[in-house]
Amino acid sequence: MKPMGPIPPHFSGEDGMLLIGGCGAASLVDEAGDTPLFVYDMGIVEAQVRALRQAMPDALAIHYAMKANPHPPLLARMAGLVDGFDVASGGELALALEAGMDPAHISFAGPGKRDDELTATIHAGATLNLESEGEARRALVIGRRLGIAPKLAIRVNPDFDLKGSGMRMGGGAKPFGVDADRAAALARMVMEAGAEWRGWHIFAGSQALDPHAIIEMQAATIALAARLSEEVGAAPPLVNLGGGFGLAYFPGDRRLDIRPIGTALASALESRADILRGSSFAIELGRWLVGEAGVYLTRVIDVKQSMGETFVVVDGGLHHQLAASGNFGTVVRRNYPIAVANRFGIEPAQEAVTVVGCLCTPIDRLGDKVALPPVAEGDLIAIFLAGAYGASASPNAFLGHPLPRQLLIG
Ligand SMILES: *Cc1c(COP(=O)(O)O)cnc(C)c1O
Repeated sequence: MKPMGPIPPHFSGEDGMLLIGGCGAASLVDEAGDTPLFVYDMGIVEAQVRALRQAMPDALAIHYAMKANPHPPLLARMAGLVDGFDVASGGELALALEAGMDPAHISFAGPGKRDDELTATIHAGATLNLESEGEARRALVIGRRLGIAPKLAIRVNPDFDLKGSGMRMGGGAKPFGVDADRAAALARMVMEAGAEWRGWHIFAGSQALDPHAIIEMQAATIALAARLSEEVGAAPPLVNLGGGFGLAYFPGDRRLDIRPIGTALASALESRADILRGSSFAIELGRWLVGEAGVYLTRVIDVKQSMGETFVVVDGGLHHQLAASGNFGTVVRRNYPIAVANRFGIEPAQEAVTVVGCLCTPIDRLGDKVALPPVAEGDLIAIFLAGAYGASASPNAFLGHPLPRQLLIG
């Protein structure tokens, strides 16, 4: 038997049926029409946003990094809950605008922005987080052609990274942002060229579960923003402090306690350098806002034996939920929290089982030697923490299976 990650605290069962947002998993499948199905509970997202606002300083803007989950009905609800969207492609920009987010509160970060993406962003009046000097030059040319002063922030590749972070995106040579020692020169250049300089975007990493690592990273980010602004000789309108708030996916993980982060950030902002006095501050979170709200429901097609091991074969797989198979940004495969939705809370069987998807590849494992109640054909398997980097971050076209259904509730 191998352990699994903790089931998020929002879920319970009633008469052996997993409840999501107060509804039984089986009736949600009926409502959606079939499995495989992602259910997203907006009640959980709203609770996360509420908890975050309570913990963080009042003036801090909360942005949603929408690559975590760009499902349009969810985006439409998010637009009313958060203060801005961070997009990572022209496609996401279009979705953000369709969701009703004010372009003044949309920023676009990501390497390799094409000219058509720069054009759409400048035309919409959204902010470009510049990844390089070359991108700055192309944006300025496009702005001149459109007769619009582009809104440009400088994405800085910081000279530190987020400790204990799952995916490091700062510190050392990176394809993201401009090295800190060239950032001030670039800010001056875009201002002299007539652009509207929007400030700094400093994203140092993702998926941290240690509040102290995030506290340290935020303090270093504010200090770096102050130092760079002094170098420019101008106050940045906005400092985007990045994100990094992680989720407890795996055995032994504990949910991030955000309260000490908010307390430390409030005092860091109170004692900030004079040059940042008039600046606004934002954080951008993806997975932390939406990840716990999602459950992937997939039906058992077959239960079979091989050399004394039991394999539970389901109608979903890594083509919908790549991360649970251990093939999305993790080095060692570990079990996401998983349950039999229609036998929820029932004692596990003596023997552990391996839950595999329907793809003809040995990497399509959704639960490795997990302790589940006795499983039969037709049962519903629930995989938790499926609200972020699930449907949109998985190789949907692989093997030609149908797309997953997605249902927003709450
Ligand atoms: C992906 C990304 C995020 C969101 O990361 P999470 O780990 O989902 O919170 C935020 N900012 C930038 C720049 C990103 O690339």
